[in-house]
Amino acid sequence: MSAIPENPYLLLTPGPLSTSPTVRQAMMKDWCTWDAEYNELVNSIRSRLVELAVEAHPAAREKYTSVLMQGSGSASVESVIGSVVPRDGKLLVLANGTYGKRIARAANILAIDNEVLDFGEQGAIDLEALQQKLLGDHGFTHLAVVHCETTTGRLNPIEEIAPVVKQAGLCLMVDAMSSFGGVPIDMVGLGIDYLISSANKCIQGVPGFGLIVAKRAEIESTKGYSRSMSLDLYDQWHAMETGGGKWRFTSPTHTVRAFDQALIELAEEGGIAARCERYRKNHQVLVSGMRELGFETMLEDEVMSPFITTFYNPGAKSYKFEEFYARLKRRGFVIYPGKVSDADCFRIGNIGHVFPEDMERLIDAIRLERYWL
Ligand SMILES: *Cc1c(COP(=O)(O)O)cnc(C)c1O
Repeated sequence: MSAIPENPYLLLTPGPLSTSPTVRQAMMKDWCTWDAEYNELVNSIRSRLVELAVEAHPAAREKYTSVLMQGSGSASVESVIGSVVPRDGKLLVLANGTYGKRIARAANILAIDNEVLDFGEQGAIDLEALQQKLLGDHGFTHLAVVHCETTTGRLNPIEEIAPVVKQAGLCLMVDAMSSFGGVPIDMVGLGIDYLISSANKCIQGVPGFGLIVAKRAEIESTKGYSRSMSLDLYDQWHAMETGGGKWRFTSPTHTVRAFDQALIELAEEGGIAARCERYRKNHQVLVSGMRELGFETMLEDEVMSPFITTFYNPGAKSYKFEEFYARLKRRGFVIYPGKVSDADCFRIGNIGHVFPEDMERLIDAIRLERYWL
């Protein structure tokens, strides 16, 4: 049998992102999907996810549970939104980018009563505006917010947002897609009810399913709320919980095996804190190197996540992103187009099986490929 081929380039595009050869190796067999061995693996993954989410308060372990859901990350977000807000509930969405707006779009399609506090793609979440919104007879029962808004790379301050939301008695849902596993999140201390992420971001698996860590008592109370059959969160959870780790429908077996390996490697690295440290170093090398080369970041240092960074495109007439992209790809790096509507920018991710030396090599490649100078 031949070895796993080397990747042609590093994906600096979260995500999918670059995975380790051993994570990819785990996908090279066709595994059984329904028997006890596989189901036990699924349950072991579910319980390791809970442990990661409650690591600051291990005694609370039994009060939390988790669900795996087929599809990309957005399917898991839609599953939560569509399965936990009751018919007479009302959702408040905090938005400062594409992913916040996507939550509101899902709510509209699902005919969930909702309002959006939109701070603009480049704006910060205004806590006072949130406090104002939750005064008096507002009727909101649930609130959704994105942790790392991948549109810009801004890390929204959930440690300040959560107390306001909990004070008002709302159920709190956090899209931690691009942050969970890459930065410590105190799910218990912050009172987060549902935390959503996916296989192919900071845990460094491959795409195919999303994951939800939830307060057990919360999810238990949502039977029959779902507006969808295949994205019914309660039903999926109930099947896994009572079936010893069984999925209702065909599960992405190869992806699940790869994810198990990715969780093993996260533990070997030293857990979330150690991974966060590596990402911070990657990010520092990236940002300081890019600034030295004359690039400007869109966000100030204080609000940048250590996961993905938005840079302005150079103003030179001869500069074209597509050309820059193609040149870097030939040198072994795939970067990411911008996603902010009214700004000329691009993004570089630094999560995945990517190390500070890789970011140094990237900076060297960019130095050589500034064809517009
Ligand atoms: C990646 C991501 C998602 C999900 O995107 P998919 O393409 O559906 O996997 C959702 N929210 C945020 C903040 C993300 O970064």
